[in-house]
Amino acid sequence: MQSCDRFIGAPKSCKLPAMNDIGSDRSVIAELSRMIQLARRVVVFTGAGISTESGIPDFRSPNGIWTKYTPIYFQDFMASADARRETWRRKILFDKDLDGARPNRGHRAVAELVRRGKTQAVITQNVDGLHQSAGVPDEQVIELHGNATYATCLVCATRHDLAPIKAAFAADGTLPHCRFCGGIVKTATVSFGQPMPEDAMRRAQDETLACDLFIVAGSSLVVFPAAGFPALAKENGARLVIINRDRTELDAAADLVLNREIGPTLGAAVAAD
Ligand code: ZN
Repeated sequence: MQSCDRFIGAPKSCKLPAMNDIGSDRSVIAELSRMIQLARRVVVFTGAGISTESGIPDFRSPNGIWTKYTPIYFQDFMASADARRETWRRKILFDKDLDGARPNRGHRAVAELVRRGKTQAVITQNVDGLHQSAGVPDEQVIELHGNATYATCLVCATRHDLAPIKAAFAADGTLPHCRFCGGIVKTATVSFGQPMPEDAMRRAQDETLACDLFIVAGSSLVVFPAAGFPALAKENGARLVIINRDRTELDAAADLVLNREIGPTLGAAVAAD
């Protein structure tokens, strides 16, 4: 049976003892802050919830993109120029939400943990590059679903800027090819039907097993295999904190659950701006 006293914020079915909001806020944030201070090595695992606070919509939410568009599978993208055209048409449309998005207090708090050496790796399900924009070095961000802010050649992996690709496509429907090898160029995200990136998955597993505190920030933990990492951390003896607006399947296993916004919570716990 789940205990209610681990649920802080807006539990749906638990009755919390009466406590004024300020006192309650302080005690929860103090507890999170203490857990971070005591930890030797902290992994932060982020999902859409941290970036919705920067105005980026959650693609998987009830009104998200994937409820309005049929996904284009990787195999179709590779096989059909029409599928590639539709993919780039959508990319230009969807990027209106990404362009101009800035890191928020949650991203800055994560970057501060990295700067202090508490956190060696940020594992993210997001593709928006906002951890890097907040100052986390590229090599310390493990992107399980890739990155939507640039494109790569699917043959030689050369990185390509999006701006000229989008300009050429918008002008006359030109599909991008690699300037070095002529291979098909695709946004550097992991599409439906595309294998998870092996290197990122392996690094994420290594970091998960090396940490003694695993903080989930803004993931509802429903997309596997990515969502398996917090469970692995807990099984391996790490403490588990979940900061998410809604409840998750793993709440019962967590040492601390905070159903609240990421930025104000993590920002206060880390004492970053
Ligand atoms: Zn190439």
